[in-house]
Amino acid sequence: MHSESKPLGEFDLIQRFFKTGADQMRSNSDQTIALGIGDDCALLKPAPGEEIVITSDMLVEGRHFFMGANPALLGRKALAVNLSDLAAMGAKPLGFTLAIALPKADTAWLEAFSKGLFDIANQYSCPLIGGDTTAGPLTISITAFGSAPSGKAIRRSGAKAGDEIWLSGSVGDARLTLAALRQEINLSDNELKQIEHRMHDPVPRIELGIKLRSIASAALDISDGLLGDLKHILNQSQVGAEVFLDQLPKSASLQKQSETIQKQFAACGGDDYEICFTAPTEHRDAIDVISKELHLPITRIGRITANTGPTETLQLLNNGNLLSNTETAKLLKSFDHFAK
Ligand SMILES: [Mg+2]
Repeated sequence: MHSESKPLGEFDLIQRFFKTGADQMRSNSDQTIALGIGDDCALLKPAPGEEIVITSDMLVEGRHFFMGANPALLGRKALAVNLSDLAAMGAKPLGFTLAIALPKADTAWLEAFSKGLFDIANQYSCPLIGGDTTAGPLTISITAFGSAPSGKAIRRSGAKAGDEIWLSGSVGDARLTLAALRQEINLSDNELKQIEHRMHDPVPRIELGIKLRSIASAALDISDGLLGDLKHILNQSQVGAEVFLDQLPKSASLQKQSETIQKQFAACGGDDYEICFTAPTEHRDAIDVISKELHLPITRIGRITANTGPTETLQLLNNGNLLSNTETAKLLKSFDHFAK
């Protein structure tokens, strides 16, 4: 039993808050993790014919989350945003490592954080397989490992002119929550309660990603705002796009806001963690089936066009009317990363 007054050493800290959870999980997981915490390195053994998919994401207090943020939600979100990247590639989670800098070894904070973290880890069968702790400004860095059948991971570079652009769930609520917390917009406590989970507790679309392996020509997760992120697909695929602004899926809460706010938050608000993907038109029915199976709305929001200029062409339409360059530039300028 640790005395609360005695400073917690690094070894004790790992043992107490992270090793037990990791061991419990590992005993339940498949044989992919040949060796987890306790050695100098972890060993991963992918199933035959599978490729390893790797992603890293770092969260810094004061930049990616507010000072004093709820540690349980932070634990959940830190892993969820990495799993969201795996989902975007169509990967199945295998395990993750955690590097964490802590200003002090606060046992109540660590207990809540590790509980949140292991709740998500268990939910997605993604055990902790290694990591490091140090003293320093609160920083959480996770590297997640997943796998996908060789050649089946969904990249950003496969979109073709004529493909349609699709989006899971709805967009804009994380940005709306941020606006309410920053008091840029007035929301009642009740309204805030209905949407704040979209910012604090994102759901990684793992099942969707796996089902899209043989359907999507390109995909990514929306972390920095739909249009900003879509541009990565356009760049990598060397194509253009038309996006139907009036078709963007929005929650009832966002639909109560002004037209301008609705458009800006849905098109450019960050932290949504939905999957945006492109697919040939022949897959419309299959996408509809996936949407029903997962009880997850998937909305067609535009189409991929041939590139006409030296850079990718992104054209925005509202009720069939093309936005002028000035209007488009104004909308894109509203891009705003959380806590910038
Ligand atoms: Mg991403």
